[in-house]
Amino acid sequence: MVNDSLYTKYRPKKFEDVYGQKYIQEILKNQIKLKKFTHAYLFSGTRGTGKTTCARIFSKAINCIHNEDGNPCYNCKACNEKNINSLNVIELDAASNNSVDQIRNLIEELRYSNFSGGYKIYILDEVHMLSINAFNALLKTLEEPPSNVIFILSTTEIRKIPQTIISRCQRFGFKNIEIKDIIKRLKYICENENILIDEESLEIIAYMGNGSMRDSISILERVLLYGENITSNDVRKILGITSREFIFELLNSIFKKDLNTSLKIIYKLFEEDVEIKLFIEDLRNILRDIIFLKLNSGNKELLNEKNEKNIEYMEKLSNLTSISDLSFLLDKINEILNKNLLTEIEYRIYLELLLIKHLNTTQKDYTENKSFIEIKGETIKLNEENKSESLFNENSWEEFLNYLKKNTYMVLYSLLQHGNAERFYDNRIFFKCNTQGILNRLKSENTIKQIEDALKKFFSTPIIFEVFSNEEIKESNMEDKMRRFFGDDVEIENK
Ligand SMILES: [Zn+2]
Repeated sequence: MVNDSLYTKYRPKKFEDVYGQKYIQEILKNQIKLKKFTHAYLFSGTRGTGKTTCARIFSKAINCIHNEDGNPCYNCKACNEKNINSLNVIELDAASNNSVDQIRNLIEELRYSNFSGGYKIYILDEVHMLSINAFNALLKTLEEPPSNVIFILSTTEIRKIPQTIISRCQRFGFKNIEIKDIIKRLKYICENENILIDEESLEIIAYMGNGSMRDSISILERVLLYGENITSNDVRKILGITSREFIFELLNSIFKKDLNTSLKIIYKLFEEDVEIKLFIEDLRNILRDIIFLKLNSGNKELLNEKNEKNIEYMEKLSNLTSISDLSFLLDKINEILNKNLLTEIEYRIYLELLLIKHLNTTQKDYTENKSFIEIKGETIKLNEENKSESLFNENSWEEFLNYLKKNTYMVLYSLLQHGNAERFYDNRIFFKCNTQGILNRLKSENTIKQIEDALKKFFSTPIIFEVFSNEEIKESNMEDKMRRFFGDDVEIENK
Protein backbone atom coordinates (compact mmCIF):
# COMPACT_ATOMS: atom_id res chain seq x y z
CA MET A 1 0.00 0.00 0.00
CA VAL A 2 1.16 3.49 -0.77
CA ASN A 3 1.76 6.00 1.99
CA ASP A 4 3.68 8.82 0.40
CA SER A 5 1.97 10.86 -2.21
CA LEU A 6 3.07 9.18 -5.41
CA TYR A 7 3.06 12.51 -7.14
CA THR A 8 5.62 14.01 -4.76
CA LYS A 9 7.65 10.85 -4.64
CA TYR A 10 7.85 10.59 -8.42
CA ARG A 11 8.23 14.24 -9.22
CA PRO A 12 11.03 14.15 -11.83
CA LYS A 13 14.48 15.27 -10.74
CA LYS A 14 15.97 15.13 -14.22
CA PHE A 15 14.73 16.75 -17.41
CA GLU A 16 14.59 13.34 -19.07
CA ASP A 17 11.86 12.21 -16.66
CA VAL A 18 9.55 15.05 -17.64
CA TYR A 19 7.41 13.48 -20.34
CA GLY A 20 6.10 15.08 -23.48
CA GLN A 21 8.16 18.34 -23.46
CA LYS A 22 11.21 17.21 -25.35
CA TYR A 23 11.85 20.44 -27.19
CA ILE A 24 11.69 22.54 -24.02
CA GLN A 25 14.01 20.13 -22.19
CA GLU A 26 16.59 20.35 -24.94
CA ILE A 27 16.69 24.15 -24.95
CA LEU A 28 16.88 24.44 -21.16
CA LYS A 29 19.59 21.79 -20.94
CA ASN A 30 21.60 23.58 -23.60
CA GLN A 31 21.37 26.85 -21.72
CA ILE A 32 22.70 25.11 -18.60
CA LYS A 33 25.57 23.57 -20.52
CA LEU A 34 26.46 26.90 -22.16
CA LYS A 35 25.75 28.90 -18.97
CA LYS A 36 23.70 31.30 -21.07
CA PHE A 37 20.51 32.49 -19.39
CA THR A 38 17.97 35.23 -19.92
CA HIS A 39 16.50 37.19 -17.04
CA ALA A 40 12.97 36.01 -17.35
CA TYR A 41 11.25 32.84 -18.49
CA LEU A 42 7.56 32.29 -18.95
CA PHE A 43 6.24 28.72 -18.80
CA SER A 44 2.65 28.38 -19.96
CA GLY A 45 0.37 25.37 -20.37
CA THR A 46 -2.48 23.48 -18.73
CA ARG A 47 -2.10 21.99 -15.28
CA GLY A 48 0.06 18.96 -14.74
CA THR A 49 2.16 19.37 -17.87
CA GLY A 50 5.48 19.82 -16.03
CA LYS A 51 5.89 23.61 -15.73
CA THR A 52 6.78 23.76 -12.04
CA THR A 53 8.80 20.57 -12.24
CA CYS A 54 10.88 21.97 -15.12
CA ALA A 55 11.25 25.29 -13.28
CA ARG A 56 12.62 23.45 -10.23
CA ILE A 57 15.06 21.28 -12.17
CA PHE A 58 16.20 24.24 -14.24
CA SER A 59 16.69 26.58 -11.28
CA LYS A 60 18.68 23.96 -9.38
CA ALA A 61 20.84 23.19 -12.40
CA ILE A 62 21.62 26.88 -12.94
CA ASN A 63 23.73 27.04 -9.78
CA CYS A 64 24.84 23.41 -9.68
CA ILE A 65 28.62 23.14 -9.83
CA HIS A 66 28.76 19.70 -11.40
CA ASN A 67 25.75 19.64 -13.65
CA GLU A 68 25.40 16.36 -15.45
CA ASP A 69 24.44 16.83 -19.07
CA GLY A 70 22.30 19.82 -18.11
CA ASN A 71 20.73 18.20 -15.03
CA PRO A 72 21.50 19.13 -11.40
CA CYS A 73 23.83 16.71 -9.60
CA TYR A 74 21.99 16.84 -6.22
CA ASN A 75 25.37 16.36 -4.50
CA CYS A 76 27.13 19.70 -4.59
CA LYS A 77 26.81 22.52 -2.04
CA ALA A 78 24.39 24.54 -4.20
CA CYS A 79 22.14 21.54 -4.84
CA ASN A 80 21.91 20.81 -1.10
CA GLU A 81 21.58 24.32 0.29
CA LYS A 82 19.17 24.23 3.23
CA ASN A 83 19.85 27.59 4.92
CA ILE A 84 16.83 29.74 4.20
CA ASN A 85 18.91 32.97 3.99
CA SER A 86 21.31 31.72 1.43
CA LEU A 87 18.77 29.83 -0.66
CA ASN A 88 19.26 30.46 -4.32
CA VAL A 89 15.79 29.43 -5.36
CA ILE A 90 12.71 31.13 -3.99
CA GLU A 91 9.29 29.77 -4.93
CA LEU A 92 6.29 32.00 -4.63
CA ASP A 93 2.70 31.24 -5.36
CA ALA A 94 1.32 34.33 -7.04
CA ALA A 95 -2.18 33.28 -6.02
CA SER A 96 -1.37 34.15 -2.40
CA ASN A 97 1.32 36.82 -3.04
CA ASN A 98 -0.58 38.82 -5.56
CA SER A 99 -0.64 42.35 -4.15
CA VAL A 100 1.56 45.16 -5.30
CA ASP A 101 3.16 45.45 -1.84
CA GLN A 102 4.23 41.85 -1.83
CA ILE A 103 5.84 42.24 -5.24
CA ARG A 104 7.53 45.50 -4.12
CA ASN A 105 8.92 43.72 -1.05
CA LEU A 106 10.25 41.04 -3.26
CA ILE A 107 11.93 43.62 -5.47
CA GLU A 108 13.43 45.49 -2.50
CA GLU A 109 14.76 42.22 -1.24
CA LEU A 110 16.36 41.68 -4.63
CA ARG A 111 18.12 45.01 -4.60
CA TYR A 112 19.64 44.73 -1.16
CA SER A 113 20.27 41.08 -0.71
CA ASN A 114 23.81 39.77 -0.63
CA PHE A 115 24.32 36.91 -2.93
CA SER A 116 26.55 34.09 -1.92
CA GLY A 117 27.44 33.90 -5.56
CA GLY A 118 25.68 32.37 -8.48
CA TYR A 119 22.15 33.30 -9.45
CA LYS A 120 19.12 34.05 -7.34
CA ILE A 121 16.08 32.47 -8.98
CA TYR A 122 12.48 33.38 -8.32
CA ILE A 123 9.81 30.95 -9.41
CA LEU A 124 6.44 32.70 -9.55
CA ASP A 125 3.67 30.13 -9.91
CA GLU A 126 0.22 31.02 -11.25
CA VAL A 127 1.53 34.43 -12.21
CA HIS A 128 -1.76 35.39 -13.92
CA MET A 129 -3.18 35.90 -10.42
CA LEU A 130 -1.13 39.08 -9.88
CA SER A 131 -3.01 42.34 -9.68
CA ILE A 132 -2.42 44.94 -12.39
CA ASN A 133 -0.31 47.08 -10.06
CA ALA A 134 1.73 44.07 -9.05
CA PHE A 135 2.30 43.32 -12.73
CA ASN A 136 3.50 46.88 -13.27
CA ALA A 137 5.93 46.65 -10.37
CA LEU A 138 7.20 43.36 -11.73
CA LEU A 139 7.52 44.85 -15.20
CA LYS A 140 9.90 47.55 -13.91
CA THR A 141 12.15 44.85 -12.51
CA LEU A 142 12.00 42.88 -15.71
CA GLU A 143 13.00 45.99 -17.64
CA GLU A 144 16.10 46.57 -15.52
CA PRO A 145 16.87 43.30 -13.84
CA PRO A 146 19.76 42.94 -11.39
CA SER A 147 22.46 41.03 -13.18
CA ASN A 148 22.31 37.81 -11.18
CA VAL A 149 18.55 37.41 -10.84
CA ILE A 150 16.42 35.09 -12.92
CA PHE A 151 12.64 34.99 -12.91
CA ILE A 152 10.68 31.94 -13.94
CA LEU A 153 7.02 32.81 -14.29
CA SER A 154 4.52 30.06 -14.82
CA THR A 155 0.85 30.20 -15.70
CA THR A 156 -2.06 28.09 -16.80
CA GLU A 157 -3.73 31.15 -18.36
CA ILE A 158 -1.43 32.92 -20.75
CA ARG A 159 -4.22 35.18 -22.00
CA LYS A 160 -4.36 36.90 -18.62
CA ILE A 161 -0.70 37.93 -18.78
CA PRO A 162 -0.09 41.48 -20.07
CA GLN A 163 1.68 41.60 -23.42
CA THR A 164 4.35 43.88 -21.90
CA ILE A 165 5.33 41.07 -19.49
CA ILE A 166 5.21 38.38 -22.17
CA SER A 167 7.50 40.36 -24.45
CA ARG A 168 10.14 40.59 -21.70
CA CYS A 169 10.27 36.83 -21.23
CA GLN A 170 11.57 33.87 -23.10
CA ARG A 171 8.38 31.92 -23.53
CA PHE A 172 7.86 28.15 -23.44
CA GLY A 173 4.48 26.60 -24.21
CA PHE A 174 4.00 23.25 -22.47
CA LYS A 175 1.90 20.81 -24.46
CA ASN A 176 -0.70 18.48 -22.99
CA ILE A 177 1.03 15.19 -22.37
CA GLU A 178 0.09 12.41 -24.74
CA ILE A 179 -1.81 9.44 -23.35
CA LYS A 180 0.94 7.03 -24.35
CA ASP A 181 3.52 9.07 -22.40
CA ILE A 182 1.31 9.18 -19.34
CA ILE A 183 0.81 5.41 -19.54
CA LYS A 184 4.58 4.94 -19.74
CA ARG A 185 5.13 6.99 -16.60
CA LEU A 186 2.29 5.30 -14.69
CA LYS A 187 3.72 1.94 -15.64
CA TYR A 188 7.13 2.99 -14.38
CA ILE A 189 5.67 4.12 -11.06
CA CYS A 190 3.67 0.90 -10.62
CA GLU A 191 6.65 -1.29 -11.42
CA ASN A 192 8.73 0.61 -8.88
CA GLU A 193 6.05 0.31 -6.22
CA ASN A 194 5.42 -3.38 -6.97
CA ILE A 195 1.84 -2.61 -7.84
CA LEU A 196 0.07 -5.17 -10.00
CA ILE A 197 -2.22 -3.43 -12.44
CA ASP A 198 -3.10 -4.27 -16.02
CA GLU A 199 -2.36 -2.16 -19.07
CA GLU A 200 -6.03 -1.43 -19.73
CA SER A 201 -6.46 0.03 -16.25
CA LEU A 202 -3.53 2.36 -16.88
CA GLU A 203 -5.05 3.35 -20.20
CA ILE A 204 -8.31 4.29 -18.49
CA ILE A 205 -6.51 6.28 -15.81
CA ALA A 206 -4.36 8.13 -18.35
CA TYR A 207 -7.43 8.84 -20.44
CA MET A 208 -9.28 10.25 -17.41
CA GLY A 209 -6.25 12.41 -16.58
CA ASN A 210 -6.89 14.48 -19.70
CA GLY A 211 -3.27 15.19 -20.61
CA SER A 212 -2.24 16.10 -17.06
CA MET A 213 0.43 13.96 -15.42
CA ARG A 214 -0.48 15.26 -11.98
CA ASP A 215 -4.17 14.41 -12.38
CA SER A 216 -3.36 10.99 -13.82
CA ILE A 217 -1.11 10.14 -10.89
CA SER A 218 -3.67 11.28 -8.34
CA ILE A 219 -6.32 9.18 -10.09
CA LEU A 220 -3.94 6.23 -9.83
CA GLU A 221 -3.59 6.91 -6.11
CA ARG A 222 -7.34 7.05 -5.70
CA VAL A 223 -7.67 3.71 -7.46
CA LEU A 224 -4.94 2.11 -5.35
CA LEU A 225 -6.75 2.99 -2.14
CA TYR A 226 -9.19 0.21 -2.96
CA GLY A 227 -6.65 -2.55 -2.70
CA GLU A 228 -4.22 -4.57 -4.68
CA ASN A 229 -4.44 -6.51 -7.94
CA ILE A 230 -6.66 -3.97 -9.56
CA THR A 231 -8.42 -4.94 -12.79
CA SER A 232 -9.83 -2.63 -15.43
CA ASN A 233 -13.35 -3.46 -14.28
CA ASP A 234 -12.46 -2.34 -10.74
CA VAL A 235 -11.02 0.87 -12.14
CA ARG A 236 -14.20 1.60 -14.06
CA LYS A 237 -16.33 0.93 -10.98
CA ILE A 238 -14.13 3.08 -8.76
CA LEU A 239 -14.14 5.95 -11.22
CA GLY A 240 -17.82 5.52 -11.99
CA ILE A 241 -17.25 4.97 -15.67
CA THR A 242 -18.72 2.34 -17.86
CA SER A 243 -16.92 -0.30 -19.73
CA ARG A 244 -16.43 0.31 -23.41
CA GLU A 245 -18.58 -2.76 -24.01
CA PHE A 246 -21.61 -0.93 -22.64
CA ILE A 247 -21.08 2.00 -24.98
CA PHE A 248 -20.39 -0.25 -27.95
CA GLU A 249 -23.50 -2.26 -27.19
CA LEU A 250 -25.57 0.89 -27.04
CA LEU A 251 -24.12 2.28 -30.28
CA ASN A 252 -24.64 -1.03 -31.98
CA SER A 253 -28.33 -0.96 -31.13
CA ILE A 254 -28.65 2.72 -32.07
CA PHE A 255 -27.08 2.12 -35.46
CA LYS A 256 -29.35 -0.85 -35.98
CA LYS A 257 -32.26 1.42 -35.08
CA ASP A 258 -33.24 -0.89 -32.25
CA LEU A 259 -34.97 1.39 -29.78
CA ASN A 260 -35.98 -1.35 -27.33
CA THR A 261 -32.50 -2.67 -26.77
CA SER A 262 -31.11 0.86 -26.54
CA LEU A 263 -33.51 1.76 -23.75
CA LYS A 264 -32.81 -1.51 -21.95
CA ILE A 265 -29.10 -0.71 -21.94
CA ILE A 266 -29.71 2.69 -20.39
CA TYR A 267 -31.94 1.08 -17.77
CA LYS A 268 -29.16 -1.35 -16.97
CA LEU A 269 -26.67 1.49 -16.60
CA PHE A 270 -28.88 3.13 -14.09
CA GLU A 271 -29.33 -0.12 -12.20
CA GLU A 272 -25.58 -0.59 -12.04
CA ASP A 273 -25.18 2.89 -10.64
CA VAL A 274 -23.06 4.14 -13.49
CA GLU A 275 -22.62 7.91 -13.59
CA ILE A 276 -24.79 8.77 -16.56
CA LYS A 277 -23.13 12.10 -17.26
CA LEU A 278 -19.71 10.47 -17.50
CA PHE A 279 -21.25 7.81 -19.68
CA ILE A 280 -22.65 10.44 -22.04
CA GLU A 281 -19.25 12.15 -22.15
CA ASP A 282 -17.63 8.84 -23.06
CA LEU A 283 -20.30 8.28 -25.66
CA ARG A 284 -19.50 11.67 -27.15
CA ASN A 285 -15.78 10.90 -27.36
CA ILE A 286 -16.43 7.58 -29.03
CA LEU A 287 -18.88 9.04 -31.53
CA ARG A 288 -16.26 11.62 -32.42
CA ASP A 289 -13.70 8.88 -32.92
CA ILE A 290 -16.07 6.87 -35.10
CA ILE A 291 -16.62 9.93 -37.31
CA PHE A 292 -12.85 10.32 -37.61
CA LEU A 293 -12.49 6.64 -38.45
CA LYS A 294 -15.09 7.01 -41.16
CA LEU A 295 -13.49 10.12 -42.58
CA ASN A 296 -9.98 8.77 -42.58
CA SER A 297 -9.66 5.18 -41.51
CA GLY A 298 -5.90 5.12 -42.10
CA ASN A 299 -5.06 7.83 -39.61
CA LYS A 300 -5.48 6.63 -36.03
CA GLU A 301 -3.22 9.27 -34.50
CA LEU A 302 -6.15 11.64 -34.14
CA LEU A 303 -8.30 9.24 -32.13
CA ASN A 304 -8.87 9.57 -28.39
CA GLU A 305 -9.15 5.82 -28.11
CA LYS A 306 -5.75 4.14 -28.05
CA ASN A 307 -6.72 0.53 -27.43
CA GLU A 308 -6.32 -1.44 -30.68
CA LYS A 309 -9.08 -3.89 -29.86
CA ASN A 310 -11.54 -1.09 -29.20
CA ILE A 311 -10.54 0.73 -32.38
CA GLU A 312 -11.15 -2.45 -34.34
CA TYR A 313 -14.64 -2.71 -32.89
CA MET A 314 -15.31 0.96 -33.56
CA GLU A 315 -14.37 0.42 -37.19
CA LYS A 316 -16.98 -2.32 -37.40
CA LEU A 317 -19.54 -0.04 -35.82
CA SER A 318 -18.69 2.74 -38.25
CA ASN A 319 -19.83 0.53 -41.12
CA LEU A 320 -23.34 0.41 -39.70
CA THR A 321 -23.98 4.10 -39.98
CA SER A 322 -23.47 7.28 -41.95
CA ILE A 323 -21.52 10.44 -41.21
CA SER A 324 -24.71 12.48 -41.26
CA ASP A 325 -26.29 10.18 -38.67
CA LEU A 326 -23.18 10.32 -36.52
CA SER A 327 -22.93 14.09 -36.69
CA PHE A 328 -26.59 14.38 -35.81
CA LEU A 329 -26.14 12.22 -32.70
CA LEU A 330 -22.94 13.97 -31.68
CA ASP A 331 -24.67 17.30 -31.99
CA LYS A 332 -27.63 16.23 -29.87
CA ILE A 333 -25.39 14.65 -27.23
CA ASN A 334 -23.38 17.84 -27.01
CA GLU A 335 -26.62 19.72 -26.46
CA ILE A 336 -27.45 17.45 -23.53
CA LEU A 337 -24.02 17.93 -21.98
CA ASN A 338 -24.26 21.69 -22.40
CA LYS A 339 -27.48 21.81 -20.42
CA ASN A 340 -25.55 21.62 -17.13
CA LEU A 341 -28.20 19.45 -15.57
CA LEU A 342 -28.13 18.88 -11.84
CA THR A 343 -29.15 15.28 -11.38
CA GLU A 344 -28.29 11.96 -12.92
CA ILE A 345 -31.94 11.23 -13.53
CA GLU A 346 -32.23 14.33 -15.70
CA TYR A 347 -29.30 13.18 -17.83
CA ARG A 348 -30.89 9.77 -18.11
CA ILE A 349 -34.20 11.21 -19.26
CA TYR A 350 -32.60 13.47 -21.85
CA LEU A 351 -30.60 10.57 -23.22
CA GLU A 352 -33.66 8.35 -23.41
CA LEU A 353 -35.64 11.10 -25.05
CA LEU A 354 -32.99 11.63 -27.66
CA LEU A 355 -33.00 7.95 -28.55
CA ILE A 356 -36.77 7.77 -28.62
CA LYS A 357 -36.93 10.74 -30.96
CA HIS A 358 -34.06 9.62 -33.12
CA LEU A 359 -34.92 5.95 -33.38
CA ASN A 360 -38.68 6.22 -33.40
CA THR A 361 -38.60 8.40 -36.47
CA THR A 362 -36.20 6.24 -38.38
CA GLN A 363 -36.75 2.70 -37.17
CA LYS A 364 -39.87 2.20 -39.24
CA ASP A 365 -37.76 2.63 -42.29
CA TYR A 366 -34.77 0.57 -41.45
CA THR A 367 -35.77 -2.41 -39.37
CA GLU A 368 -34.63 -5.66 -40.83
CA ASN A 369 -38.16 -6.94 -41.43
CA LYS A 370 -39.27 -3.90 -43.32
CA SER A 371 -37.11 -2.40 -45.95
CA PHE A 372 -39.83 -0.31 -47.53
CA ILE A 373 -40.89 3.17 -46.72
CA GLU A 374 -44.09 4.88 -47.57
CA ILE A 375 -44.27 8.42 -48.77
CA LYS A 376 -47.11 10.05 -50.64
CA GLY A 377 -48.82 6.68 -50.78
CA GLU A 378 -46.01 5.19 -52.82
CA THR A 379 -43.87 2.40 -51.58
CA ILE A 380 -40.21 2.83 -52.24
CA LYS A 381 -37.81 0.03 -51.77
CA LEU A 382 -34.78 0.98 -49.74
CA ASN A 383 -31.65 -0.03 -51.47
CA GLU A 384 -28.08 0.33 -50.27
CA GLU A 385 -27.75 3.79 -51.73
CA ASN A 386 -30.70 5.05 -49.75
CA LYS A 387 -29.08 3.86 -46.59
CA SER A 388 -25.73 5.34 -47.35
CA GLU A 389 -24.66 8.64 -45.90
CA SER A 390 -25.95 11.91 -47.10
CA LEU A 391 -23.95 13.12 -50.06
CA PHE A 392 -25.35 16.55 -50.16
CA ASN A 393 -25.97 19.64 -48.12
CA GLU A 394 -26.83 23.27 -48.75
CA ASN A 395 -23.53 23.88 -50.52
CA SER A 396 -23.86 20.94 -52.82
CA TRP A 397 -27.37 22.13 -53.72
CA GLU A 398 -25.84 25.39 -54.90
CA GLU A 399 -23.26 23.42 -56.84
CA PHE A 400 -26.03 21.36 -58.38
CA LEU A 401 -27.84 24.53 -59.52
CA ASN A 402 -24.61 25.76 -61.10
CA TYR A 403 -24.23 22.43 -62.80
CA LEU A 404 -27.73 22.79 -64.29
CA LYS A 405 -26.88 26.25 -65.54
CA LYS A 406 -23.59 25.19 -67.10
CA ASN A 407 -25.09 22.17 -68.79
CA THR A 408 -27.97 24.11 -70.32
CA TYR A 409 -30.73 22.57 -68.24
CA MET A 410 -32.07 26.11 -68.28
CA VAL A 411 -35.76 25.18 -67.80
CA LEU A 412 -35.02 23.13 -64.70
CA TYR A 413 -32.63 25.79 -63.47
CA SER A 414 -35.23 28.54 -63.69
CA LEU A 415 -37.97 26.36 -62.16
CA LEU A 416 -35.75 25.64 -59.18
CA GLN A 417 -35.23 29.35 -58.61
CA HIS A 418 -38.80 29.47 -57.22
CA GLY A 419 -38.12 28.02 -53.81
CA ASN A 420 -35.58 26.40 -51.57
CA ALA A 421 -34.20 22.97 -50.97
CA GLU A 422 -35.24 22.83 -47.33
CA ARG A 423 -34.10 19.48 -46.14
CA PHE A 424 -31.49 16.98 -47.15
CA TYR A 425 -32.03 13.65 -45.61
CA ASP A 426 -30.32 10.48 -46.68
CA ASN A 427 -30.79 10.39 -50.43
CA ARG A 428 -33.77 12.66 -50.45
CA ILE A 429 -34.31 16.33 -51.06
CA PHE A 430 -37.35 18.26 -49.89
CA PHE A 431 -37.95 21.30 -52.00
CA LYS A 432 -40.30 24.01 -50.79
CA CYS A 433 -41.82 25.94 -53.67
CA ASN A 434 -43.04 29.45 -52.95
CA THR A 435 -44.72 30.25 -56.27
CA GLN A 436 -48.14 28.71 -56.83
CA GLY A 437 -47.94 28.82 -60.65
CA ILE A 438 -44.66 26.98 -60.71
CA LEU A 439 -45.69 24.37 -58.17
CA ASN A 440 -47.79 22.29 -60.59
CA ARG A 441 -45.00 22.23 -63.13
CA LEU A 442 -42.49 21.13 -60.51
CA LYS A 443 -44.86 18.44 -59.35
CA SER A 444 -45.46 16.97 -62.80
CA GLU A 445 -44.09 13.49 -63.15
CA ASN A 446 -42.08 14.54 -66.15
CA THR A 447 -40.30 17.39 -64.41
CA ILE A 448 -39.57 15.32 -61.32
CA LYS A 449 -38.09 12.64 -63.53
CA GLN A 450 -35.89 15.20 -65.30
CA ILE A 451 -34.73 16.68 -62.00
CA GLU A 452 -34.04 13.26 -60.52
CA ASP A 453 -32.10 12.27 -63.65
CA ALA A 454 -29.99 15.41 -63.36
CA LEU A 455 -29.49 14.81 -59.63
CA LYS A 456 -28.40 11.27 -60.33
CA LYS A 457 -25.91 12.45 -62.92
CA PHE A 458 -24.51 15.13 -60.67
CA PHE A 459 -24.32 13.15 -57.41
CA SER A 460 -23.71 9.76 -59.10
CA THR A 461 -26.42 8.17 -56.98
CA PRO A 462 -30.23 8.00 -57.15
CA ILE A 463 -31.89 10.83 -55.26
CA ILE A 464 -35.56 11.31 -54.55
CA PHE A 465 -36.93 14.77 -55.19
CA GLU A 466 -40.03 15.92 -53.31
CA VAL A 467 -41.91 19.20 -53.73
CA PHE A 468 -44.12 20.90 -51.18
CA SER A 469 -45.93 24.21 -51.16
CA ASN A 470 -46.13 26.45 -48.10
CA GLU A 471 -49.82 25.53 -47.83
CA GLU A 472 -49.13 21.83 -47.88
CA ILE A 473 -46.64 22.22 -45.10
CA LYS A 474 -49.25 24.05 -43.06
CA GLU A 475 -51.64 21.09 -43.41
CA SER A 476 -51.37 19.00 -40.33
CA ASN A 477 -51.02 15.68 -42.10
CA MET A 478 -48.01 17.02 -43.94
CA GLU A 479 -46.55 18.17 -40.67
CA ASP A 480 -47.08 14.69 -39.33
CA LYS A 481 -45.44 13.22 -42.37
CA MET A 482 -42.42 15.44 -41.96
CA ARG A 483 -42.22 14.86 -38.26
CA ARG A 484 -42.38 11.16 -38.81
CA PHE A 485 -39.42 11.56 -41.04
CA PHE A 486 -37.32 14.06 -39.18
CA GLY A 487 -38.43 13.92 -35.62
CA ASP A 488 -39.65 16.83 -33.59
CA ASP A 489 -36.80 19.04 -34.58
CA VAL A 490 -38.39 19.63 -37.95
CA GLU A 491 -38.85 23.34 -38.48
CA ILE A 492 -42.01 24.20 -40.27
CA GLU A 493 -42.39 27.77 -41.27
CA ASN A 494 -45.84 29.21 -41.35
CA LYS A 495 -45.65 32.25 -43.51
ZN1 LIG B 1 24.81 20.13 -7.94
